[in-house]
Amino acid sequence: MMDLKEVEESLKEELQKAESLSQLQQVKAKYLGKNGLITQAIDHIKNLPPEERREYGRRVNQLKEKAEELLREREEDIKKSELQKRLSEEWFDLSVPLEPATGTLHPLSLTLRRIKGIFLSMGFAVIEGPEVELEAYNFDMLNIPKDHPARDMQDTFYVNKEGYLLRTHTSPVQIRTMLSHKPPIYIVAPGKVYRRDDDPTHSPMFHQVEGLAVDKDLSFGHMKYTIETFLRSFFETDVPVRFRASYFPFTEPSAEVDIGCVICQGEGCRVCKQTGWLEVMGCGMVHPVVLENCGIDAEVYQGFAFGMGVERLAMLYFGIDNIKLFFENDIRFLKQFR
Ligand SMILES: [Zn+2]
Repeated sequence: MMDLKEVEESLKEELQKAESLSQLQQVKAKYLGKNGLITQAIDHIKNLPPEERREYGRRVNQLKEKAEELLREREEDIKKSELQKRLSEEWFDLSVPLEPATGTLHPLSLTLRRIKGIFLSMGFAVIEGPEVELEAYNFDMLNIPKDHPARDMQDTFYVNKEGYLLRTHTSPVQIRTMLSHKPPIYIVAPGKVYRRDDDPTHSPMFHQVEGLAVDKDLSFGHMKYTIETFLRSFFETDVPVRFRASYFPFTEPSAEVDIGCVICQGEGCRVCKQTGWLEVMGCGMVHPVVLENCGIDAEVYQGFAFGMGVERLAMLYFGIDNIKLFFENDIRFLKQFR
């Protein structure tokens, strides 16, 4: 006859040592399995003399129920601690900041946005026009007739259709706007233009922003103020601005606009070719012929117009010395700009 008290104590001890469900299974087999200790004790009941059978049988059954309860409890404990263990080993810290590879805006997009933003704040509207343009809008109506030398100044890409070309400047948007809108007109027209130039400072495709104002009593002074305000806002400094008399067929009088060199502050450097000045745009009062071409009475209205190269302004603003960098799409270059 086995000592049931001893069996219960050793069961409790082994349950405490069991740390996994498989170890628990072994303990269960040892006590309640086919040849388990408790199972043997139950089998033994029938061999006892009748007077002992009753009391021993009651104790064995109690022990069996107790053993089953202890096994269930231990199983719950082991399951809980295994879950805890897994949770602590497999956790993800969702508060760790991730840095996904994000793109950046192209320096020309950044520059265009800034230019547009400044003119929008001055009350100009942003208008766009087609890149394949009528020869008439690109040249003729801008007072550049067929035999005009200005046509040679801009090496033109012609397209396979009589009367059409890739616009050489954004100025035809002036014509389109004046044909479709009555003054007052205050617009800027950003966009791509095309010329057969290709060297470190010229690209066959580049960006311009054209400006046009048409209203009553507009003077050269209004234009000067507008351009100076723009340039000082763009370069974020009280940069010196000067207007040099120049010639464009579509404006009269015309001027080139220079700013004090932003690289050397006017001391003279390679970028400004030691002059201390940088040419940044062309401008002028809209030629009366151009106004009349678009059905606007030049006796009543005046206009001023200006045009600037976006690459040029971006190069000066960011300190970039090769226009090709804008178009090579080298991510090491592009990701520097935000
Ligand atoms: Zn300089």
